[in-house]
Amino acid sequence: MSVNPGPASRPSPAVLTDFDDTAAAQNVAELLLHRFGHPSWTEVRDRFRAGELSLKQYQEIAFLRMDARKDAMQAYVRENACFRPYFDDLWQFCQGNDFPMCIISQGLDFYIQALLDASGHSDVPVYAVVTQFDDNGRVQGYRYDFPYPDAPELGNSKALIVRRFREQGRHVFYMGDGRSDFEAGEVADTVFAHRQMAAMCEEAGIPFTVFTDFGPVLDAVREYARGRG
Ligand SMILES: [Mg+2]
Repeated sequence: MSVNPGPASRPSPAVLTDFDDTAAAQNVAELLLHRFGHPSWTEVRDRFRAGELSLKQYQEIAFLRMDARKDAMQAYVRENACFRPYFDDLWQFCQGNDFPMCIISQGLDFYIQALLDASGHSDVPVYAVVTQFDDNGRVQGYRYDFPYPDAPELGNSKALIVRRFREQGRHVFYMGDGRSDFEAGEVADTVFAHRQMAAMCEEAGIPFTVFTDFGPVLDAVREYARGRG
């Protein structure tokens, strides 16, 4: 009887990535706000950063004041945003091996979907804020489908989704850059971080690898999968 489980019994991987400034090379939310937002949006963002507004309040104020229709915003995303290098290679590798890969974001679904559709990745699963539009294509409201259980005003909880995959017996690879990614990094198995998230992991003593594109992630997932035998 073997005491130590062999490589073949290691959990199968799942790859979960943040969107703004992580899967996407840009912060697409801010790209849209710069182009279409009410001039007051930076002031609203500063109040959110100072802790005066919740994420939900920030998104409601900033995006509800936007003077643009859904189709115009999506066209702008298609023209001005892109995925980081090797995103597609990672997706193809995961698809080919039946490893789940998805995007987890506190951002809005319609701009994430615009970039996915434009790059031929319409079938990448997305966990994000569900945006509701009126008949004229203007943002009308939002729905948070996986909120923090004790604090729904904080928006969606990325750790909640990471835990779901871990409960299904997956080894979770997580990539992120921001404050909201940190709690996901705390419960993920392998962490890739940059910017704010990297600083927070560093401070908390959570091991992580710095990344600027998905090349090292692909290498790590491939290596892990090979080790499973
Ligand atoms: Mg981000």
